[in-house]
Amino acid sequence: AMLANQIAAGEVVERPASVVKELVENSLDAGADKIEIEVERGGHKRILIRDNGSGISQHELVLALSRHATSKISSLDDLEQIMSMGFRGEALASISSVSRLTLTSRTAGQEAAWQAYAEGRDMQVQIQPAAHPVGTSVDVQDLFFNTPARRKFLRAEKTEFTHIDEWLRRIALARYDVQFSLRHNGKTVRRYPKINQPDDQRKRVAAILGATFASDALDINSHYESMQLQGYLHANRSGELDVQYFYVNGRVMRDKLIHHAVRQATAEMYGDNHQLAYVMYLRLPPQEVDINVHPAKHEVRFHQARQVHDFIYRAIIDMLQQESC
Ligand code: ADP
Ligand code: MG
Repeated sequence: AMLANQIAAGEVVERPASVVKELVENSLDAGADKIEIEVERGGHKRILIRDNGSGISQHELVLALSRHATSKISSLDDLEQIMSMGFRGEALASISSVSRLTLTSRTAGQEAAWQAYAEGRDMQVQIQPAAHPVGTSVDVQDLFFNTPARRKFLRAEKTEFTHIDEWLRRIALARYDVQFSLRHNGKTVRRYPKINQPDDQRKRVAAILGATFASDALDINSHYESMQLQGYLHANRSGELDVQYFYVNGRVMRDKLIHHAVRQATAEMYGDNHQLAYVMYLRLPPQEVDINVHPAKHEVRFHQARQVHDFIYRAIIDMLQQESC
């Protein structure tokens, strides 16, 4: 089983940023609205995630570390939906098979916290009482210590940290309702406070993409039939920021069709040569879209592609025309 975990780890755990991704997604699944990420040496040495979610009970602690131990499948009907959300029940098992992992957690119903420790292949999970508020901490040390071939592929600290930082931006732009912080080598480098009022979204946009973008960007707010587009866009002949984030039903996507629609609209106002920065959120009924959540891909297939394209194009053209008159 341990070997199977290490093989699975190859898919789930590619680099420190993928560990952060899996652990933060677990925290979000547990309903946390405060998530602290602490990294040492780009994640080579340590990745520590603390959340204030629902926690894991004492008797489920060891189970959580074993393969296919997802608590998120309650009936077979859920299976298809759950697969598409990426709940496979193997992230913790995979990560612990290639690191020294300490899992500490407390549920609201428990008076004390419990802690499990697992180390690499010879996983002897020990569990003991610990001190911890309601929620969960996962402490991952010495990633790939027992898989030297993989350890060799780790990039410089700075590169690995940049991947973590970039991934956090993406998730922080999707989850305004959650507070995130990121520390690197003992120093707080990012702090994204929780946004309570929808009107305050721009504060987070400013924290992530800079105050200039946040104040210059135009508001997009449009809907057509069952589609809704909201976001911020700044197109300019001499803009400096060149970032594009597009979310479909809350998940970040890179998609040619979408980018084409945006670009086509902005080109009518700014010509072929212009800088384009945007954060946009498209919502549409889930049955009208297939989302491939493979970690390496962010692919989306719209059943009515033409309609989606034209909607985005129209929404932006209308917004730009209103702005210019
Ligand atoms: P999956 O997320 O696919 O279920 P994981 O290996 O990532 O599988 O996690 C295994 C189980 O451990 C989860 O189903 C959940 O019950 C529990 N778990 C993991 N992380 C947390 C967390 N931060 N808070 C609460 N429960 C968690
Ligand atoms: Mg998970």
